[in-house]
Amino acid sequence: MGSTVESFDYTSLKELLKDTKAEVLTPGDGQEYEDIIQRWSESCVKRASAVVAVKSASDVSAALEQVRKHKLPFTVRGGGHSTSGAASIEDGLVIDLSKMRGVTVDPEARTITAEGGTIWEDVDVAAAKHGLATVGGTVNHTGVGGLTLGGGYGYLTGQYGLTIDNLLSVEVVLASGTVVTASKTTNADLFWAIRGAGQNFGVVTKFTFQGYEQSNPVFSGPLVFPPTALPQIVQFMNKFHETNDGRQTLVVAFSSPPPQNAPVILTQLFHNGTEEEGRAIFGDLFALAPLADMSGTVPYQVVNSLLNASAGSDGRKLFGGGAFKLPLDPSFVEGVYREFQTFVESKENFAVAQSMMLWEVVPYKKVMEVRNEETSFANRGDYYNVATMFKWFDPALDTEMRTFSRSLLKKASETAANRSKDGGVGQYGNYASEEVAANDIFGENVRRLEDLKQKYDPDNLFSHGTKLTPRPLVVVN
Ligand SMILES: Cc1cc2nc3c(=O)[nH]c(=O)nc-3n(C[C@H](O)[C@H](O)[C@H](O)COP(=O)(O)OP(=O)(O)OC[C@H]3O[C@@H](n4cnc5c(N)ncnc54)[C@H](O)[C@@H]3O)c2cc1C
Repeated sequence: MGSTVESFDYTSLKELLKDTKAEVLTPGDGQEYEDIIQRWSESCVKRASAVVAVKSASDVSAALEQVRKHKLPFTVRGGGHSTSGAASIEDGLVIDLSKMRGVTVDPEARTITAEGGTIWEDVDVAAAKHGLATVGGTVNHTGVGGLTLGGGYGYLTGQYGLTIDNLLSVEVVLASGTVVTASKTTNADLFWAIRGAGQNFGVVTKFTFQGYEQSNPVFSGPLVFPPTALPQIVQFMNKFHETNDGRQTLVVAFSSPPPQNAPVILTQLFHNGTEEEGRAIFGDLFALAPLADMSGTVPYQVVNSLLNASAGSDGRKLFGGGAFKLPLDPSFVEGVYREFQTFVESKENFAVAQSMMLWEVVPYKKVMEVRNEETSFANRGDYYNVATMFKWFDPALDTEMRTFSRSLLKKASETAANRSKDGGVGQYGNYASEEVAANDIFGENVRRLEDLKQKYDPDNLFSHGTKLTPRPLVVVN
């Protein structure tokens, strides 16, 4: 008889995987173990029974063989930034990709191939050496893995679409341990599923992206305003919605940044062009006399580091997401702001002061050129994402933070209720907390995803994160 989960000795993995290049770390391994279980949010740190730090696709296959043989609960860790806790596990195994961070660039084909555990900084820096860029995350310590498999928005989305719209192929280790390639022409059904619901279909060990020439620097940076400027900022969002040409992005955030923890409205500007053009495009905001102006010209590979400081790795965190439509009534946004601010101020000692609410005006025209049924990702529509990024320190606040985040996002999302009928679900999967159902993230694509689960992962090994159940085959006699 094989081992059962209860009786399995996880330290035996060191012996069982000794012929691979993977490192097996268990709680007895001191600091190295403590370091590898860290996550961007402290609330997602879980004491895994073992972490298998893989170095190749064949290491992943070998780890999955043990998972299948001993029926071990497990999960996969890419960049470790999700706040749903999906990349950590308490009693089980983590297949950890953080030592797979190689990037290769083919300058002639303009393609960028990144290993499964890379972070966006790895990709941005490697691509820039060849004057190239692709659509990556706006905080460059975020993982390529999770961000890509769930869709991916970045400053270049207005020009080139989502990260998955620029994904050419993947190397993926399936639940069976088989290593396959998926692209539009090879295992096309798997490639469809991977682009939105990737975490439920295997361990992706290589991503190949389309790169674009990006030799010019870009205009970007934050402007800081007093909360009294919010109505005029909303008026500008409404105008920007009509006037942007896809080369710009505007993020408006409520925040109370340290050290003063005074409430402010931040606007993060981006224009893929010159400073002179950028200052003209965002002229209405400059005319509002910001309290601080940190905008300027930066090389593209630097732009995704500009917000790193506001997304540091201390504290417990929760990302939540919804949708909003422009134009917005300034008094509506002021109402949402008052709710946010009243909550933040109700906590003593600035306990949640570093929390943020972000209205992300990332142009959607290019995203909508792909129909929702063309990829499993189903959040393409004539609306924008709104996100909450709550940060706190006391675990006793966990439930209250979740409840408040949900209610605030529900209110902000009221404006997207009238989005076009054939439009998307209004919920970005990578911003969704764990309780959001698959139907709300994948809409009408759920049925096909469940059929493909039956084909590629019938025992539902990849069940962490969004819940998708393999649909049993119906045999007709
Ligand atoms: C500070 C911050 C900034 C962000 N900015 C953006 C942004 O600009 N644009 C955007 O679209 N999103 C953004 N996000 C959301 C981000 O897309 C998600 O948090 C995403 O899950 C992060 O991926 P990760 O690899 O770091 O996370 P992880 O927690 O490691 O993984 C997330 C999920 O994906 C799975 N997974 C990860 N890698 C692999 C792999 N190679 N193969 C199979 N499964 C894998 C994990 O098992 C887990 O279920 C941001 C998040 C944070 C915290």
